[in-house]
Amino acid sequence: MPELPEVETIVQDLNKKIKGKRISKVNVRLKRIVKSENFVKVLIGNSVKEALRRGKLIIFKLEKENNYLLVHLRMTGQVIYQQNNRITAGGHSDNNDNLKELPNKHSHVIIYFTDGSKLFFNDQRQFGVLKIVNAKRLQEEKKKFGIEPLSREFNTKYLENLIKNKKKNIKAFLLDQKYIAGIGNIYADETLFRAGVSPTRRVDSLTKNEIKKIAESVKIILKKAIQARGTTFNNYVDADGNQGSFVNFLKIYGRGGKECKKCKTILKKIKVAGRGTVCCPKCQK
Ligand SMILES: [Zn+2]
Repeated sequence: MPELPEVETIVQDLNKKIKGKRISKVNVRLKRIVKSENFVKVLIGNSVKEALRRGKLIIFKLEKENNYLLVHLRMTGQVIYQQNNRITAGGHSDNNDNLKELPNKHSHVIIYFTDGSKLFFNDQRQFGVLKIVNAKRLQEEKKKFGIEPLSREFNTKYLENLIKNKKKNIKAFLLDQKYIAGIGNIYADETLFRAGVSPTRRVDSLTKNEIKKIAESVKIILKKAIQARGTTFNNYVDADGNQGSFVNFLKIYGRGGKECKKCKTILKKIKVAGRGTVCCPKCQK
């Protein structure tokens, strides 16, 4: 599932390519992915001002009538921009074989631009959502998300206040988008390993120092992941020769049963918050 670093990467990439492009045609091949009746009507003749991100949500600001195209990638959504057979893709990345031929059976929406370039929305499991909203609805959508973890406002003090009177475990807390926006399974596990805190710890049991370490680790892990262009589990290289390489820095995610890189203890794979979770029984208290 694409998380904050993967979404941030594709948003930055698209901004280099898509700004000012005018839409000439829209092909909705799977109706239920699109949640607005005015979808095609609003898009045709409109142009893209810029791409933005809030949590794991992609927001395309449109030129006309203060409208926005929202893309929720969810589990397996991908956004693919194609120009002269060169592609820039982002989002879900476990299986990029389907990028070789476009469109394909996973291409559910295609947006055509007047210069001949195209934007595909591909989604294998079809949980993704595309919709058009106005400025007011956009604010409502944005309010569903908690704080942006890379904002200056997010710090130890903020996290301390946020977990006050809550009883969940810290992993469930980090995954909950209404508290902190953009963290999913990979970066929750990496954050907690770096902070030395067990994912099963209840938030009301955390010491001040542990809260500080978690807040710091969230920022450090996410920033490093964005620098590495996110985590991708394949050899996909985009049109500009870029590749998501945070997979090389993963210390804990996907390493259950292997040795801890810090202490050599065998890493445990458990289920926390309904998600497969890896942790070190020695390094994480
Ligand atoms: Zn360890």
